[in-house]
Amino acid sequence: MRDDERTELDDRMMASAIECAREAEGHGDVPIGAVIVRDGKILAAAGNERELRADPTAHAEILAIRAAAEALGGWRLPGTTLYVTLEPCAMCAGGIVLARIPTVVFGAPDPKAGAAGSVLDVLAEPALNHRPAVRGGVLEAECAALLRDFFAARRSGEGGIRTHEAG
Ligand SMILES: [Zn+2]
Repeated sequence: MRDDERTELDDRMMASAIECAREAEGHGDVPIGAVIVRDGKILAAAGNERELRADPTAHAEILAIRAAAEALGGWRLPGTTLYVTLEPCAMCAGGIVLARIPTVVFGAPDPKAGAAGSVLDVLAEPALNHRPAVRGGVLEAECAALLRDFFAARRSGEGGIRTHEAG
């Protein structure tokens, strides 16, 4: 992204998403975190809980979308921005479209599963009835390092036990 598009709010909110990612790592989940912001305030925050809940759909974005909908009292999330440390997958991008979230900001791209342009581009699909504005690369180095360190530690610590995909 261009430097002049990046704001102090983006950096601050992505730092909060990184905190959620660290919490996820604390319970053995792949470190991915998300926050949903409206009027400069955090409405909802969540880390990936796939392992914790033994739920393949318990991605950070989905958990944050559910919490934000509860906070706002409706399924639409107008005026919000979703910050997530890793480019959303197809499921989460679908959830973002369904919730009509106006703006998505992500940290690191996901060349294996990203659905904001890397593998698919669900968020820019002209046939869908909602297309959020998308910015990538906010605190990208920090977001990517979390994942890299997590998988490196797992490989060295568990003697080659399976490493499955992020997100
Ligand atoms: Zn996802």
